[in-house]
Amino acid sequence: MTKISTTQKTLENTPKKYCRFILTEDRPDWHRLVETKDGQLEYRMGVGKYKDITPRSFRTLVRTIVQTAKSHRLEYLALPFGTLRAPKIKTMGEAWLMQTLAENLALAQYEFTEYKTKKTKKHLKEILVCGVATKTQKVAFDVGLAIGEATNEARTIANTPGDDMTPSKLAAATARILKGTGATITVFNEKQIKTKKMGLLHAVGKGADDKPRFIIIEYWGAGEGSKSKKAEKPIVLVGKGITYDTGGLNIKPAGAMHDMHMDMSGGASVIATIKAIAALGIKKNVVGLIPAAENAVSATSMRAGDIVTSLSGKTVEILHTDAEGRMVLADALTYAQQEYEPALIVDIATLTGAALVALGQHASALMTKNEKLQRTLVELGEKTGDLVWPLPLWDEYKQYLKGTRADINNVAAPTGRFGGSIEGGTFLSFFVSKKIPWVHLDIAPRMDSIPSDKLAKGATGEPVRLLVELIRTHTN
Ligand SMILES: [Zn+2]
Repeated sequence: MTKISTTQKTLENTPKKYCRFILTEDRPDWHRLVETKDGQLEYRMGVGKYKDITPRSFRTLVRTIVQTAKSHRLEYLALPFGTLRAPKIKTMGEAWLMQTLAENLALAQYEFTEYKTKKTKKHLKEILVCGVATKTQKVAFDVGLAIGEATNEARTIANTPGDDMTPSKLAAATARILKGTGATITVFNEKQIKTKKMGLLHAVGKGADDKPRFIIIEYWGAGEGSKSKKAEKPIVLVGKGITYDTGGLNIKPAGAMHDMHMDMSGGASVIATIKAIAALGIKKNVVGLIPAAENAVSATSMRAGDIVTSLSGKTVEILHTDAEGRMVLADALTYAQQEYEPALIVDIATLTGAALVALGQHASALMTKNEKLQRTLVELGEKTGDLVWPLPLWDEYKQYLKGTRADINNVAAPTGRFGGSIEGGTFLSFFVSKKIPWVHLDIAPRMDSIPSDKLAKGATGEPVRLLVELIRTHTN
């Protein structure tokens, strides 16, 4: 891991071992690594006109610097960001600049090397940000680092192969990562899931060797309620925790399965968000629920055509076993409403490939009936970099899921080709009371990084930054 810190010193006054990054207004593709007469390494990089740098391009710029340093095998890096003369960045404020800088340095230095037997000796050991003089700057920088580091934990969980991150191992990882945060963790095993009548979660996970788990994380940052004191209602985050998705008996095609160990990215983002909230000492009540299961192929797998009773009591006919994410989420959403009085529910799931068809790979799909929340989330997405874009959640779509032999079908019958993401969100809407503010985030488009992200290949850890900001700014 790369050490990332700040100094009041100017770039010119940093020790000689640091390669100094000097930004110029040259074309963005212009760059030179030079050694000055007195043996000082300097990396000069064009960033285009300062006036053209936007919040979006700033994030990419920060990541590009780190990627460049890594590709040149630089070990010590000094950056000039204490003062940046870009007007569009200035309007975002000093705190935003420092937090965003730290987040993206942390995200860009990350590499998933756990399974590499040959470790490279020369790697980026340290990044020093110069000219950071005020307390506001320093505090914001540390906030960004905490969020960036927590996000990287989510990436590691998601990047870990399915065999090493089964439901029980995911439960263990949750406890390990959240140790010392003050969060309490409860895990239901298969027997408890059955006794509690979480029929959908059980159906999805029963075909695997490692049976399903239901992971409950409670973080009472604002104080737990007692008889004398009414507690602040919690924000409940529900994260899909399919640790591996073969598609079940309706098995996925060969080319569409290799990255399905990342089908618990929603659950990973919930763990990381609570870790960050605790690290930042945010005084909010947050509950995380992760229905964890492996959607496996075996003699005990659920079948297409099976009818299952959900925790809500509604019966569901399984028309397609690869539409399992919405099933496990439905039971978790019901649990959230039965056990807590949520101020807000956000579910986060790599739910549908159709979300990629709709949006490409630059934004997650956002579905909610609450227009204010929709606006807030789109804005916070822009602010944090975890972009989200709305799709409709209209009642008109409900008719397609009307049950044939049971109350509802898990996919439209006959299996339709259109509006697959909306269908997923609509299925979930059957399980959430209209009285509760609820948002569904289909993060499938952002599960895997793309080259323009300037991140290591694999999981992106989205939307941890968005969730942290949402919780931080949410008022009941
Ligand atoms: Zn699936």
